[in-house]
Amino acid sequence: MKMQMVDVVGQYRKIKTEVDAAVHRVLDSGQFILGKEVGELEALIAGYLGVNHAVACASGTDALQIAMMAMQIGPGDEVITTPFTFVATAETIGLLGAKPAYVDIDPRTFNLDPARIEAAITPRTKAIIPVHLYGQPVDMDPVMAVARAHGLKVIEDSAQALGASYKGKKVCSIGDAGCISFFPSKNLGAFGDGGMIVTHDATLAERMRMVAAHGSRVRYYHEILGVNSRLDTLQAAILLVKARHLDAWNAERVRAAGRYTTLLAGTPVTPPFVRPECGHIFHQYTLRAPRRDALAAHLKSRDIPHAIYYPVPLHLQKAFAMAGNKPGDFPETEKAAAEVLSLPMHTELTEEEQRFITDTIREFYAAG
Ligand SMILES: *Cc1c(COP(=O)(O)O)cnc(C)c1O
Repeated sequence: MKMQMVDVVGQYRKIKTEVDAAVHRVLDSGQFILGKEVGELEALIAGYLGVNHAVACASGTDALQIAMMAMQIGPGDEVITTPFTFVATAETIGLLGAKPAYVDIDPRTFNLDPARIEAAITPRTKAIIPVHLYGQPVDMDPVMAVARAHGLKVIEDSAQALGASYKGKKVCSIGDAGCISFFPSKNLGAFGDGGMIVTHDATLAERMRMVAAHGSRVRYYHEILGVNSRLDTLQAAILLVKARHLDAWNAERVRAAGRYTTLLAGTPVTPPFVRPECGHIFHQYTLRAPRRDALAAHLKSRDIPHAIYYPVPLHLQKAFAMAGNKPGDFPETEKAAAEVLSLPMHTELTEEEQRFITDTIREFYAAG
């Protein structure tokens, strides 16, 4: 069989009986919207993360937008984030009329460098969105310290990091709000789109719930402008089954990552950095590779899937011209974009496949 970057079907086959039963229960109930599974999943995720409130929504992108809307972030405001992330992080800032204010990354972790935040703060700054990229926790203590010192909100983009931990705490539970994506390829993936926002703050949670439901607490009475963003009952039922396996699946990813790193020893690639006090959950296994594009072509010639997350940093994307950045503004980010390469990473990855992948990489560098 052809190797895959992510194997969602292989994973489904192992839990097919449980998933199919859950799906049929929902189909028989007819409660396709706001069925009881949605509330059950909210309670389960809140308990897992150790937060008081969780609000399900339609995607990770919506989760970010709803969190910012609930915090009344809008035109004229600035939100500090990383330029080295999936587009949704900054797109939602821009859609609300606010401006993404980027800070460069820490080259070891690929995550926003907390030491650079202070210099990016202006009187318009309202919030910071750290992104736990690839499942690697951001160094949250200094992020929270600078946020508290300046009265800024912190929204953790945890789309790639559900289950990751920072100094004994689950990421997504550290800031004022945390955003989760259940996109199929994420560590806890639905069979379609889905998302969730979590918070310790009851007032904020109520506002998030209101924003996600057309700005209403009581149906047909609209207090503020909101959006329509719900998690389907079917997806919630599937996620309730899959969530029971999340920690075991994350542990499998960590094992596979360790195997890659061992197998790649002695090659010129730089394997992912792992902070001893953090639990990286390897949503991606991302290397820095000399002659990256030639290596990618070599992998392709051997039918080995791979990906570049992300080839163009957000500050250089046309859509974000309003932020007023130019090439050279964030050198570590630009360097990372030119060097990163992600290898297949999923719960069905075999040691044999990993050996083939790493032998192919070794062969590429041995040929000079
Ligand atoms: C996937 C992802 C999102 C968006 O999630 P969707 O569910 O696809 O909308 C946001 N931020 C990051 C970092 C992501 O990886």
